Amino acid sequence: MNDFSFEDMKQIKRKNLGSEVPLELFRAIRLIGMYQGLPSGGKGTTMTIGRKIGQSLPVTTVEELLQLLEDLKIGIPHIISSTERSMHIAVEDCFCEGLPAHEGQMVCDLEGAIMEGALSKIYNKRVTAKEVKCNVNGDERCEYELRF
Ligand SMILES: [Zn+2]
Repeated sequence: MNDFSFEDMKQIKRKNLGSEVPLELFRAIRLIGMYQGLPSGGKGTTMTIGRKIGQSLPVTTVEELLQLLEDLKIGIPHIISSTERSMHIAVEDCFCEGLPAHEGQMVCDLEGAIMEGALSKIYNKRVTAKEVKCNVNGDERCEYELRF
């Protein structure tokens, strides 16, 4: 079987419905399907999916990655702080913005895993991402701690 590439994903020929799907569908896949439908919040699976997507993204710099995350409407990311070994990234307008709060729950691990996969390719290093703040948890935005 030939693998699909990210470039393949852009080949869209839907005559009537166009290239976008509603956010509630994406949320349903993420939260009802993956987070609630998979064992232990889908943790392992989500990491595998996110990393694989991240590695497939056509980006070679952090700046390109941040721009693509915004273009894909994953959110509007910016770097809060950065050292040789870590990077703290905040994401405004995350897909989870506006959902009812569920204190103690962080649901945007897929987005972190996408960054993890992309950054590990960009830097050719092992990267781990941890979601440290989430709108759903009642925080003011979603934030990630990435370690190299
Ligand atoms: Zn979140």
